Amino acid sequence: MESGVFPNKYTWKHTYKQQIAFHESLSWQQRSETSSVLKEFRTVHNTLSIFNLWTLSIKNHSILNQCRFAVYLIGIYFADFGRLQCHRCGFSSENIVLHYIYECIHSESDRQTFWREIQIKGGPNIFRKFTALNIQDQISVMFSSDSNPLHATDKEQGLLTMISLRFLYKVKLTFDISQHV
Ligand SMILES: [Zn+2]
Repeated sequence: MESGVFPNKYTWKHTYKQQIAFHESLSWQQRSETSSVLKEFRTVHNTLSIFNLWTLSIKNHSILNQCRFAVYLIGIYFADFGRLQCHRCGFSSENIVLHYIYECIHSESDRQTFWREIQIKGGPNIFRKFTALNIQDQISVMFSSDSNPLHATDKEQGLLTMISLRFLYKVKLTFDISQHV
């Protein structure tokens, strides 16, 4: 434009796309830095890009519901509902998602299957690295985060995501959604 020549269609589209991407990245950055909830969410998804679970569900429609439920759990995990009571065991927890994943007696057999699958399918190296992570990082791996605290290869991360999705989806059976909506 500065040269006095109107750009062709493709240059024009490219310029527009670039400007919109720049503007959106900046506003996402600002929004996620000022909101306490989004700030925490960035521990799972720290770039303005398509979320891994979304990409996975597009490639593999048969696990769409599992991916959808995992995203729902992520929302509950970061939301501040205060203490909630587990309707199965009666335990009251600051973070009901952590309770279902790590504590609830009714998730015990699914939890054991989850750990066993990581050990057998992931192998001893992945199992050792995964168990050495703190809870926040383990949750990041289960939610298929961008941060990749395990430094896993794509193949390893893919395997862990599938194992985690299976486990998280089973949590649905004991999850009283009505108390959160
Ligand atoms: Zn419980």
